[in-house]
Amino acid sequence: MCKALIIGAGGVGTVVAQKIAANPIFSDVMLASRTKAKCDAIAAAIGGDRVKTAQVDADNVADLCELFRAFKPDIVVNVALPYQDLTIMDACLECGVNYLDTANYEPKDEAHFEYSWQWAYQERFKEKGLTAILGCGFDPGVTAIFTAYAAKHHFDEIHYLDIVDCNAGNHGMAFATNFNPEINIREVTQKGRYYENGKWVVTEPHEIHKPLHYPEIGERESYVIYHEELESLVKNYPTIKRARFWMTFGQEYLTHLRVIQNIGMARIDPIIYNGVEIVPIQFLKAVLPDPKSLGANYHGQTSIGCRIRGIKDGKERTYYIYNNCDHEKAFQETGTQAVSFTTAFRRRWALRCGPRGFGAVRACSTSRSSILIRSWPNWDRRDCPGSRNSTSIWKSDRVSIIGLKVRMVCTVRTFLSVCIGVKRGRYKYLFIPNSRDF
Ligand code: NDP
Repeated sequence: MCKALIIGAGGVGTVVAQKIAANPIFSDVMLASRTKAKCDAIAAAIGGDRVKTAQVDADNVADLCELFRAFKPDIVVNVALPYQDLTIMDACLECGVNYLDTANYEPKDEAHFEYSWQWAYQERFKEKGLTAILGCGFDPGVTAIFTAYAAKHHFDEIHYLDIVDCNAGNHGMAFATNFNPEINIREVTQKGRYYENGKWVVTEPHEIHKPLHYPEIGERESYVIYHEELESLVKNYPTIKRARFWMTFGQEYLTHLRVIQNIGMARIDPIIYNGVEIVPIQFLKAVLPDPKSLGANYHGQTSIGCRIRGIKDGKERTYYIYNNCDHEKAFQETGTQAVSFTTAFRRRWALRCGPRGFGAVRACSTSRSSILIRSWPNWDRRDCPGSRNSTSIWKSDRVSIIGLKVRMVCTVRTFLSVCIGVKRGRYKYLFIPNSRDF
């Protein structure tokens, strides 16, 4: 049994709170955020008195420590914003609490994210006997587990890695983001960046693109952008020659994005408006649709996976591991769309706590998200067998998902769980022999 404190009451926090509350392994659950009323509404929807709520300013270490000392959590699940990662980690160190997040730190005044700031905490967490798991959503998160699983079970060496993220859903709005608009727009307007032959190659935003085929969806124009798991994966898998991250964008979305940038609404520096200092992108967030509200009219699927080419027993092979999630089914189950759902739900794997707090990642399958093993012998068929909401999983080995891997036991148990899931038929991977698509 353990006590979980969730920080952040947005779209992702809603699903995290539901899933943790439903899991009896957690004796006590608290949801804290900047606006307590949002926590209260989520707790009321969950029902009973299962989820306690609190107000907290996660930018303030003293405020966080006061809450930690009162509630005494075993783990803090940070689903606030990347800006709060370091203050929450500082408070965890001060109060002896394990830590988990879904997005790596970025400073408010610089649209730039990388692991170095958080990896710098490794020794301090180790000295205190604490665990911190970084980037444990879907991407980053499950994509790292997919790669690790493939590396362990299907390859002697991974040479080429392409992480592909497609949202083929339609929410009926002219423009909306699927998670926090400020963070999302900062991310997708950055320069592209991918890894090749030991170096990082920088491109103009959305410069490299081509149509890629996604299972059960079809072709979608996909763009190379920078994503954080590339940094940890190339570090942990030095045989990788090239690693890229692809994301689909519709033309309508890109046009809006361009206009937003052209008229200065994506600016992250403060300006004076009517004598008051405002940051344009924060104002924009206030007028854009709340991602949490999109679920009711969302149709279609997301498809996120890893396409890997490498060597096994001296022969080249190519695999594709993916998860498809249906927006409507995600909404029926949790009241949120598939992006919040997959980010938060996969976190359950990492939130099975042992008596001493943070423990294993357990791969769970539910009716909403089944993971089966299949082979895909004919890539040309351009058709993917298998159910909707399926995840294909591969290997496990080193824990690229864990930026601060201070308890290797977590790693071992995580991947053992995934392996057991595969053996029991709860997971699926696709086998695309000698595919040259990437
Ligand atoms: P939202 O903006 O919907 O929610 C963020 C929540 O954090 C809000 O409730 C907000 O409070 C709260 N918050 C913000 N600042 C503070 C603060 N200083 N103190 C306390 N609470 C604060 O974001 P999402 O739910 O869409 O995303 C949550 C996180 O998940 C983000 O970091 C995002 O990058 C990450 N993510 C990761 C993905 C992955 O696959 N790895 C995919 C999608 C998202 P208030 O309500 O008052 O504004």
